[in-house]
Amino acid sequence: MTEAIDVKIKERLGKARRILITGHIRPDGDAVGSMLGLGLALENIGKHVQMVLPLGLPHVFEHLEGSELIQREVEGEIDTFISVDCAEFSRIHEELQTFGEPLLNIDHHITNTKYAEINLVEPDSVATASVLVEHLPVWGLEINRASASALLTGLITDTLGFRTLNMNPKALRQAAEMMEKGAKIPDLYYRVLISRSFKAVQYWGKGLANIERDGQMVWAELSLKDRKAVNYRGNDDADLINILSSIEKSPVALIFVEQPKGTVKVSWRARGEKWDVASVAAEFGGGGHRAAAGATIEGSLEEIKLSVLHATREIL
Ligand code: 5GP
Ligand code: MN
Repeated sequence: MTEAIDVKIKERLGKARRILITGHIRPDGDAVGSMLGLGLALENIGKHVQMVLPLGLPHVFEHLEGSELIQREVEGEIDTFISVDCAEFSRIHEELQTFGEPLLNIDHHITNTKYAEINLVEPDSVATASVLVEHLPVWGLEINRASASALLTGLITDTLGFRTLNMNPKALRQAAEMMEKGAKIPDLYYRVLISRSFKAVQYWGKGLANIERDGQMVWAELSLKDRKAVNYRGNDDADLINILSSIEKSPVALIFVEQPKGTVKVSWRARGEKWDVASVAAEFGGGGHRAAAGATIEGSLEEIKLSVLHATREIL
């Protein structure tokens, strides 16, 4: 059944001439995969599409067909602004916020603030890519091999390889469908979930050397000094949080990553359906999902660790 919102979106996309698509800041596989999945499909029907990430494409996604089209700046006029996988207006890169609220916001975060004119937000979907796989054909857009590879990347990364608690049969069927369109699971899976740089693993070593545990919580920190010591280039945790969240008898894991301008990026992961870490993240101005949430908080590593651990203990 075609819902009213699909009719509206199809009509607006039909009229669109110059389209801008972006994802959230610090883009992950779902943000990039959704940008490309949608952008390439729109290009294929002759639209002028600009897929923009002001800080560029993270290296891990450079193998994706069409990723070379992702640009850092908007060129010329645009008439249609679309955000994907972005729960809040403030998670759109500052430079792109000057284009105002998007026409269309396509997402799956339960915390989405519906900041666009049209908001297609489906919290039961495992990824924004899953929302797109379902809706693109309804909007008359075809998923070719390149789009399928991008969308499958979103499905794989947001479900950590089809194993998060929110996994559903639909996502597996969609993955199969993307394979039928030419996407290669072993290659995509290896590149986004398995392969690591030598430096990233050295950086893990820094964080793992001092992991701490209290009751059901386990945590680690990565300071700017740690990052410098191994010359790790990213400003993230190199996915160390996923190792912490595998520690038995510690269903809640946190990581504190010191950032250059006096802030700390905190990530939470919860195993099991009992806890909602997004609610704690929200107390600190962040958000996310019940099982995976994050926030960027102003203050020193020590201060933030104290207050965040205290607030997290409250929900346990
Ligand atoms: P991560 O900790 O891996 O960066 O993010 C985990 C989840 O929390 C993702 O779904 C991500 O979109 C969300 N998230 C991370 N940081 C923030 C933030 O600052 N604000 C909001 N609203 N969500 C965040
Ligand atoms: Mn997502």
